[in-house]
Amino acid sequence: MSSSLTIAQAHERLKSKSLSAVELAQACIERIESVDKTLNAVMHRNFDRALEEAKKTDKQGKFDHPLAGIPYLAKDVFCEEGVPTTACSNMLRNPAADPSDRGGARDFVPPFDSTTTKRLKAQSAVSLGKTNTDEFTMGASTETSCFGVTRNPWDSSRVAGGSSGGSAAAVRADECLFALGTDTGGSIRQPASFCGCVGLKVTYGRTSRYGVLSMASSLDSIGALTKTVEDAAIVLGSIAGRDPLDATTGDEPVPDYTQALKKDVKGLKIGLPKEYFIKGMDPQVESAVREAAKVFTSLGAKIVDVSLPHSPYAIATYYVLVPSEVSSNMARYDGVRFGHTVPERDSLIEYYERVRSSGFGDEVKRRIMIGTYALSAGYYDAYYRQAQRVRTLIKHDFEKAFEQVDCLLSPVAPTPAFKIGAHTGDPVQMYLEDIFTAPVNLAGIPGLSIPCGFAKAKPSSEAPKGAKEDGLLPIGMQLLGPQWGEEVILRAGHAYEQATDWYTRKPSLGN
Ligand code: GLN
Repeated sequence: MSSSLTIAQAHERLKSKSLSAVELAQACIERIESVDKTLNAVMHRNFDRALEEAKKTDKQGKFDHPLAGIPYLAKDVFCEEGVPTTACSNMLRNPAADPSDRGGARDFVPPFDSTTTKRLKAQSAVSLGKTNTDEFTMGASTETSCFGVTRNPWDSSRVAGGSSGGSAAAVRADECLFALGTDTGGSIRQPASFCGCVGLKVTYGRTSRYGVLSMASSLDSIGALTKTVEDAAIVLGSIAGRDPLDATTGDEPVPDYTQALKKDVKGLKIGLPKEYFIKGMDPQVESAVREAAKVFTSLGAKIVDVSLPHSPYAIATYYVLVPSEVSSNMARYDGVRFGHTVPERDSLIEYYERVRSSGFGDEVKRRIMIGTYALSAGYYDAYYRQAQRVRTLIKHDFEKAFEQVDCLLSPVAPTPAFKIGAHTGDPVQMYLEDIFTAPVNLAGIPGLSIPCGFAKAKPSSEAPKGAKEDGLLPIGMQLLGPQWGEEVILRAGHAYEQATDWYTRKPSLGN
């Protein structure tokens, strides 16, 4: 099945003409058609156009660029000209739309491309469609999507993580060769770790946010979920770099990230932050990450204990700043500028109320309310300004740590994938999912999530006695680097992958 190839493997075959771009796209389409009924990862399907693009690429016969002819999926927040983009929210769907209608005839269809999808198009990568996400990317389980939850390919009673759960499940289930995601507080790394694939959150400003529906503009970062670290390096090289349409992108030159993979890790100093191994986390996660540290030692790296003292304040800080930015970014969905429309009412205020109360789900509304409160006169200094100060302290913690070490190693999430519905009634429990990932976005530094083992799932308490235990669930670790330090984490991650085989394991989903 060619859809199970990595980008690097498929590129070799496309170049040697032992595989055509049409055959590769067709294999992904067939795979989606056979497994997505269970997973619910792929929302808007762009198959006819994908096959046309693949045909054109075959005809041109130019496969010099490693992404030429490579099929991918994008999280449903990337604007792509002519393709429905809904952030998995009823706000961007017509209320009359049938939820089972994935054709998108009634959805918001952007008239332009995000910079990322435009760059991929220029390299002749083949867009297959859109993946499921928590509504407007707010969540850690893809359960707040208006299209329903994405199921974990390893255990369909569990979440795939979130908010890029659709992208992570699609990559691990071989529905595509890579998928785009966004990470504001962990949404690339955590689903990658729950599904057992690789996820790269870049330095803030390394990739362009232009044309991607915003959640919290000072934390959002655009990246990819892939099957290997090498593939992550390939995709990053194609999408990174300054964009005149996004003033927050940096001028730093884009290195050839695949070159960085050639160096070994001898002498590299890797820090283990003591605040990232806490009471309450699954001991299997802790031991998998500590085992990974031993692998690095055996490869010649030096493991050093470090401290990031302000870590305990990160979740509180994040959940003041993010809702504040959310409350502002969501203001444009008012049924006039953007968003669905409702039958006219007497007053404009009443119209806004009807549009917003029927279009947004509970989590989005909760954040708009918290953010509006935190930003209001009288509370701004106590909450928003204070949180900004703590954000600076968190950033300084990382800067100090990187004076001692080249990169950091930590778990991605405190537990492996949890059961669907386990946290839906308790938002705070859901927010605690981000405990090891959100500080990285507050600091704006890069993080790479890589499979590092498997946990034995505990049988659920409701299961009848003697019931078959759940199987194995992937565990992820993250490597964190200094600002613009993608090369060092890719290099360390690749070295780890060469020494282990966790990343090659796949769930049995039939064929
Ligand atoms: N779980 C986090 C949140 O809900 C992260 C979301 C994200 O990275 N998009 O805010």
